[in-house]
Amino acid sequence: MKKFALAGNPNCGKTTMFNSLTGSTAHVGNWPGVTVDKREGVYKKCPEPIAIVDLPGIYSLSPYTSEEVIARDFIMDEKPDCIINIVDATNFERNLYLTTQLMEIDRPVVVALNMIDALDKNGEKIDEVTLSKRLGLLVVKVSALKETGLEELMNVAYEASKKERKSTTVLKDGPLGHLIGDVTIALKGQNIDNPLFHAIKLVETDEIEVRSHAKAFEVVEEFKKVFKDELFGNDLEAIIADGRYKYITTNYSPTLTKRRQNEAEMTSSDKVDRVLTHRIWGIPIFLVILFAIFHITFSTNFLFLGGLFSEDWVSCAGTAFEGVFGEGGISSPGVTLQSLVVVGADAVMSLVESGLVAIGSPDWVVGFLVNGVLEGLFSVLSFVPQILVLFLLFSILEDSGYMSRIAFILDKFLRKFGLSGRAFMPMIMGFGCSVPAMINTRTLADEKEKVATIRVIPFFSCGAKLPILIGIAGAMAVSFGIGNADLVTYGMYLLGIVVALVCVLLMRNTTLKGDLPPFIMELPTYRMPQFKSLMRLLWDKLKHFIKKAFTIILASTIVIWFVSHFSFDWQFLSDEQMDMSILASIGKFIQPLFTPLGFGSQCGQWGWMFVVACFMGLLAKENVISAFSSLAACIVVANPEIMAMDAIPKLIAVTGASPAALIAFIAFNMLTIPCMAAVATARGEMPDKKTFNFTILFWLVVSYSVSMMVYVIGTAWWTVFIFAAVIVVAFFIIKAFFKDKDKKAEVKA
Ligand code: GDP
Ligand code: MG
Repeated sequence: MKKFALAGNPNCGKTTMFNSLTGSTAHVGNWPGVTVDKREGVYKKCPEPIAIVDLPGIYSLSPYTSEEVIARDFIMDEKPDCIINIVDATNFERNLYLTTQLMEIDRPVVVALNMIDALDKNGEKIDEVTLSKRLGLLVVKVSALKETGLEELMNVAYEASKKERKSTTVLKDGPLGHLIGDVTIALKGQNIDNPLFHAIKLVETDEIEVRSHAKAFEVVEEFKKVFKDELFGNDLEAIIADGRYKYITTNYSPTLTKRRQNEAEMTSSDKVDRVLTHRIWGIPIFLVILFAIFHITFSTNFLFLGGLFSEDWVSCAGTAFEGVFGEGGISSPGVTLQSLVVVGADAVMSLVESGLVAIGSPDWVVGFLVNGVLEGLFSVLSFVPQILVLFLLFSILEDSGYMSRIAFILDKFLRKFGLSGRAFMPMIMGFGCSVPAMINTRTLADEKEKVATIRVIPFFSCGAKLPILIGIAGAMAVSFGIGNADLVTYGMYLLGIVVALVCVLLMRNTTLKGDLPPFIMELPTYRMPQFKSLMRLLWDKLKHFIKKAFTIILASTIVIWFVSHFSFDWQFLSDEQMDMSILASIGKFIQPLFTPLGFGSQCGQWGWMFVVACFMGLLAKENVISAFSSLAACIVVANPEIMAMDAIPKLIAVTGASPAALIAFIAFNMLTIPCMAAVATARGEMPDKKTFNFTILFWLVVSYSVSMMVYVIGTAWWTVFIFAAVIVVAFFIIKAFFKDKDKKAEVKA
């Protein structure tokens, strides 16, 4: 099968084009660095099917980061039959810089002038016929988003792929051109593929090239000596870059007719930026927006209208609307959706229960299916609406281009902790799922910054941990009458962020010291988030979630029910006897470990359920709440008041777990070793086994100590001073220790 590669700058629309051509649903986002790995699909409208490969964005063929290496290696080693170079027409000149490099490869290259729709809107025009002549490449105008010109592009590329293409370069003039010409001939003599391309890279003294063509580089050094006097200075990389830009401005730029712009006129993007990226207000605005997101998703007192409606009015609306008009307030859209799912789930459960009873099923079957399986499943599924709402709102922020600006504003702030603004994007992605977030750290050039970022990504609480937060926060509101779920959740998210920052600061000052590269990230233009791509994202997320629910979560729930209803000598146990089960015995054995965190031995006979939930979370974080709920639902106690309660409040009542212990429980699960999938990803992205092992230890230590702090401070608030003092002293000791070590290392060197 023929293979066409999509190559271009970050954010020029490669993935959008890929999706349009192949009907895939790969993630499109309005910020550089969304695609960090290559992806393949098939285009079927040419005479033969064609494999299309979406590559990470690159500015040049000299890679700095691992995603760039992926793109370059593919282009150089896998020899695609045609390279489709996507050029963002609204960023014309800068995008052509890469084009001048792609044309130096002996491969068919076709230029796709993308975002023509946006160019039109700006009132600008490109003369593609002249441009094509001057480039010596075929040019097709397209809009990947509006799906115009794509068929023509593919036909042109298909025809081009049948012919050989000889490389050309814009660096032909002067002594530089001469030098490149001579080196090319020398490389040709050595039978090296793509002699022109390698010649230029060798003249640039590109690190990777010099390593892989050591012999040829000696020749270059000789040539360089000959031309020494004719070349100004020695920074050939800069001279070459300059040569390319000069050529672009004199030959290609004139094909673009710009709109005559009033000097004082600002684009609307600039106007918006004046407010949103304000030096002082930028960060507060961001925090308010974040809170608004949590409020829309979790609040049971939407827009704080609670006081406006009298109790009578609410009760008059009837119980059917209980979810919409919560106690004394209106539910936010997220909570409203959730309560609808809960109503549905409850109906299904009681239907199944009465059905089973009617056909005379034994008690244990009813218990197993209703309390064990359904309760566990629904406890997770009922949070899906809120996860989706949260995810949707975050996606809108990303797609509009706002998040990239926050990365930009936060760069200075993050630098104080030893991270660059670039690390912000993967961290924010962590709110969705740690797995893609960890993979996205490939955009970070510094290895140590990458390791530090991967370690703290799980602290940015992911979608699967959300049910733990809301489930417990909601149950706390019921049991103790405290807190609105949005405040508790927002607070827990902030706790995760603070812990992440402190840990990064510590690591970057001790084991992961390193210099930060300067932060260069272009700000994408503000764009209207695309409804289609948002819906696609949500649909993907929903599918993923449902799949997980009916595989790993369902299986875990069933296993848990069995090991909690059999004793070691394989005696079947009823719900009342559950605390003699296999699971209970193991849980009780480990339970004391969690006593300092508040949900250990002090929780008595049923406290092992907390322990079991934590362990089940290692498979998938949704398991924490499903295991918890299905076990708790089985608790049968004499007290009729407790019997009528929901699963988690019931457990809180029988264990006497305090609010501080419950918050500590959330904190522990949020910060501890993430799920299996994330652990495997972290292993793959880490440089070596030792770093990985240390990472696991790091997660355990951090979760345990932070959670203990939460519990102790929550129990006796004045201990906060003791902890603060200990932390400050510890920090200085560690810092001094590492300074000493550095000095010794310096002396040795
Ligand atoms: P990639 O980084 O090159 O893969 O770029 P993406 O495909 O992720 O797209 C980046 C942004 O550009 C997204 O917000 C897209 O919606 C937008 N975009 C892509 N193609 C077009 C187009 O033809 N016209 C317009 N107006 N926007 C586009
Ligand atoms: Mg992409």
